[in-house]
Amino acid sequence: MRKHLARLLTVLSVFAALVMTAGTMSPRAEAAEPRPQAAAAWNPPANLVQPLDEVWRHVESTYPNLYGFRNYGWDHVMANRGSINYCVRWESDAPVSAALRDRIHAALKKQFGKWMSAMVDNGTGHNAWPYTNVPVNIVGWAVKNRSTLQWTDNSVDIYTGLDSGGAPQCLPDCGRFFHQDGNYSRCPGGAARHYDQSLWLTKGFQGGAGGDWGQRVGSEYFTGALNQENIHIYLHEVGHTFGLDDFYDWSPTGQCCFLMKAGSAAQITDFDKWMFRDFWRHMKSRYGL
Ligand SMILES: [Zn+2]
Repeated sequence: MRKHLARLLTVLSVFAALVMTAGTMSPRAEAAEPRPQAAAAWNPPANLVQPLDEVWRHVESTYPNLYGFRNYGWDHVMANRGSINYCVRWESDAPVSAALRDRIHAALKKQFGKWMSAMVDNGTGHNAWPYTNVPVNIVGWAVKNRSTLQWTDNSVDIYTGLDSGGAPQCLPDCGRFFHQDGNYSRCPGGAARHYDQSLWLTKGFQGGAGGDWGQRVGSEYFTGALNQENIHIYLHEVGHTFGLDDFYDWSPTGQCCFLMKAGSAAQITDFDKWMFRDFWRHMKSRYGL
């Protein structure tokens, strides 16, 4: 699976906003689990019922391993009991001050939190979602040359290893993508320093990529958008991390414009929110909910 994903990345990374969703990430064919019963807590606005149903049927027919795949963002949050750990891959020679590091962390918290907020209504988790707040920790940074990172404190682990393509990579021993069984015994900091997702910031990278491994966008784009209310390419890619699909070649009935239809919206819309909730609805039974 790693090799498969790496090859896909190499081939596809020239395209803007490529998709790296469940079916492509896990090519193994497995029998689909039975469709869960629709929950009583499912109450989307009436005008969204049909398009949401169209989306779910499309997802089910596109990704044979939809129900067997076990590394969605949902699985990360649930495994951690309500938090998420990130590692930043800084694929750039632009220096990063402690202040910039902290601003990146603050932006990541805010933006990731927008998706998590979509699961909460009036202080209560939607449809048995257990967490009204999901803390975002950055446990490490990866960089080619340590001197690019200008801080000297020990608040994050720093990695200078490279992946097979020469990009800075956080230690695989600490990564959920590489240890989906949750065994981080070879991670120097143990489970507390594991990372579920990478925020991969690449100099000159156009568009974005997202999947169970995290999200990749341009370093200039992300640092240039730190003050924006919505870092929308990042938000779109997080949608993929949680299993949401692209809409390059079709639109659900009545829905022209939403974040997961790249280029048509620059924030999480009501339709995105309900697609997100629908994904959870269809996955929650794996957690006994
Ligand atoms: Zn996409």
